[in-house]
Amino acid sequence: MSFTKIKSFLGEIASLAELSEKEVEFLTTPKNVLKADLEVNGKTYPAYRVQFNDARGPFKGGIRFHPEVNEDEVKSLAFWMSLKTAVADIPLGGGKGGVTINPKDLSHEEYEEASRAFVRAFYKHIGPTKDIPAPDVYTNPQVMAWMLDEYENLVGEKAPGVVTGKPLELGGSLVRGIATALGGVYVLEEAVKKLGLQNKKVIIQGFGNAGMNAAKLLDNLGYSIIGVSDSKGGVFNEHGLNVDDLITVKDSKGSVTSYDGGENISNEELLEKECAILVPSALANVITEQNVHNIKAKIILELANGPTTSEADKILHQNDVLVLPDILANAGGVTVSYFEWVQNVSGLYWTEDEVQNRLKIKLVSAFNQLWDSYDGNEQDFRTITYVHALKKIVAAEKLRGRIK
Ligand code: NAD
Repeated sequence: MSFTKIKSFLGEIASLAELSEKEVEFLTTPKNVLKADLEVNGKTYPAYRVQFNDARGPFKGGIRFHPEVNEDEVKSLAFWMSLKTAVADIPLGGGKGGVTINPKDLSHEEYEEASRAFVRAFYKHIGPTKDIPAPDVYTNPQVMAWMLDEYENLVGEKAPGVVTGKPLELGGSLVRGIATALGGVYVLEEAVKKLGLQNKKVIIQGFGNAGMNAAKLLDNLGYSIIGVSDSKGGVFNEHGLNVDDLITVKDSKGSVTSYDGGENISNEELLEKECAILVPSALANVITEQNVHNIKAKIILELANGPTTSEADKILHQNDVLVLPDILANAGGVTVSYFEWVQNVSGLYWTEDEVQNRLKIKLVSAFNQLWDSYDGNEQDFRTITYVHALKKIVAAEKLRGRIK
């Protein structure tokens, strides 16, 4: 969603969130928009760090390396991060970073240099108590390791809490690898209980970190994964797919479409198949006004960011489909990032069970608070979630005296 669209959308839900025009203006104004040009091997790449809101704690959000990165996109993503940390009820704000660069065109050395150059450009503005970046599209734990190293060299002290999503050897957290999917599963399990859903047939679009881990976790919990897809297409079998075999096929042949225990179908067809739970885990804007009438699922778990357009969203609500919105459904990632930071600043490291239990407590409680407002309310679950997050940010701003 473009930043202009975010502003008009916020205007629309302002009365529900009891926000004045002044408050809407305040909430849609980023605190800092930082820009720099990164020099990498004789070429220059625009870089951004948008620090959107820090009323509830240090700015928090990933750094994206992508040829289409632009200021508007980084601003929008930083805004959503502010809401996501509020929904997950972690004491952090929202930010995002990006570099307009294509890592596929870079050598390993240039990739490292771009990561270090980003930190050199912004290191005065980030830090464990200021702004804590993390990986995003085309950045990963290795990039975080380079960024940590560069930051510590510049400030002359150890500061593992400056970035999250680090390798375990450098202070990363257990469970981070599956955190997004696991958080989504905890939220889904609560929703299934509330709706008393007996049918446990699941379709998942996207078979990467979020989608594949969701398939594994749900399969282990007794759900039946009847359809999955990746960028090459989908595979479907109403009697269930073998998830272990799907992973083997994806690893060895590069795509789930080579799995031979089901019928090959397109990504578009997959979304419209009969199922109880649909888990978009790939791209934005895949459920639209065009296909929404053909969606059969009762619950949509948005592991991907922004998979449902606002037009489709209204229709899903009319059709009694429960949409578990991205800022709740995929908040497991940022929640375990927060746990990583807590472990870094305290110097005490948790077991896998501890991380999982704490994640479950956080997200189950977030879901239930939202459900209490949603149950019997005519608003859809997404609007309830946004309103809840905005109110939390405004309350913090008011306590600080920044909004009168
Ligand atoms: P990933 O790169 O690991 O996997 C993406 C998957 O989507 C791949 O299987 C790819 O083949 C598939 N895909 C690409 N184009 C597709 C298409 N046209 N149709 C169907 N599938 C397609 O990425 P990821 O980390 O799993 O992220 C997926 C989504 O989840 C993104 O929207 C991301 O923003 C969101 N998300 C991820 C995390 C996280 O921690 N991984 C956290 C929050 C949100």
